[in-house]
Amino acid sequence: MSNKYDEPIYVCEECGSSNVMEPAWVYANRVDFLPIVGDRIDGVDFDLCDDCDAQMEIISKEQYDKNQEA
Ligand SMILES: [Zn+2]
Repeated sequence: MSNKYDEPIYVCEECGSSNVMEPAWVYANRVDFLPIVGDRIDGVDFDLCDDCDAQMEIISKEQYDKNQEA
């Protein structure tokens, strides 16, 4: 399973939702260039889950599944 950038799916560490957001800089004058995971804003060290409102660190779906098994 992968997203359109061919990166791993990231999910909420708390609830496993893929409806998660990572802070990133956006070009003010370019609508053709969307930020991708990794373009993180320095100093903002948490991600947001839109489903459970947790402030956490997104993890890969693979890692989440592993955590559930443990
Ligand atoms: Zn969540």
